[in-house]
Amino acid sequence: MGYSAAMATSDPTVPAGPGGPGGSTSAWRLQLLGLLLFLFIPLVLFLFVRHPAPVGVSLAAGVVLMLGHRFLARPYMGRALAAKCLWCNRALSSGAAGSEPLELATGAGPLTARCCPEHRAPAARFFAFLDTWRLALRAGIFLPLLLLLLSLAAVAGGRSDLPLPGITAVFKLAVGLTVNLAALGPLVGREKGTPTVPFPVHNFFLLGVRNLLWIFRLVGIWWIVQGVLYFLGR
Ligand SMILES: [Zn+2]
Repeated sequence: MGYSAAMATSDPTVPAGPGGPGGSTSAWRLQLLGLLLFLFIPLVLFLFVRHPAPVGVSLAAGVVLMLGHRFLARPYMGRALAAKCLWCNRALSSGAAGSEPLELATGAGPLTARCCPEHRAPAARFFAFLDTWRLALRAGIFLPLLLLLLSLAAVAGGRSDLPLPGITAVFKLAVGLTVNLAALGPLVGREKGTPTVPFPVHNFFLLGVRNLLWIFRLVGIWWIVQGVLYFLGR
C-alpha cells in the first residue's frame, strides 16, 4: 500500500522536487535528507557491533532505530523515485525526458525507479544479481545478524559465558564477505525482466546504489580484515 503512494509520485507527469519551483533548493534538501536517513544505518551497526554498555540499552536502541527507520525511509523513497537517479544519486530534471525507467518487484508491490540513460544498465545488472543470489545474500546478512542480536540479548539478560568478541568477529566476517559478493553485481550480473529486491528497497534510494556499494565494499573489506585478525589471535 505504501508503494501505491510512492508510485503516484513516480508519475513522470508530476513535477518532481528538483524540477519544480525552487528546484535546486529542493534537490539539495532531498540529497541532505537522504544522507541523514542513511546515517541511521552506521548508527545501528555501531550499537550492535560495539554494543557500548549497558548492552541491553544498545541492543534496544539499535532495534528501535532499525525498525523505525523504514517509516521515514519509505516516504523518502516515494519522493526520490522520480527525482534522483537510482544508480548515481544525481537529481533528475522533471519529467521522463533525460532518464529511463527501471522496473523492480518488491515484497510490497512493483515500483518504477529512474536512472540516467547510461546508468540504467549497471543498476539493472545489480538488482538482477541480487535476485539471482538472494538466498545466499539473505543468509549472509540475516543469520549473522540474528546470531549477534540473540547473543546481545542473552548477555543483557545476565549470561556471562558467551564469547561476544568472537560472535562479533563472525558477524563482521560474514557481512563483509556478503556485501562484497553483492557489490560484484554491477560487474558480473546479467539483466533480466523485473528483478525482485530481496532487501528493504528504500535503503537503495538514500545515497544511490553506486555510493552505497562503495561504502559497503570498503567497510566490508575492513570488517573482513578485522574478522580474520581476530581469529588469528592478533
Ligand atoms: Zn545516474
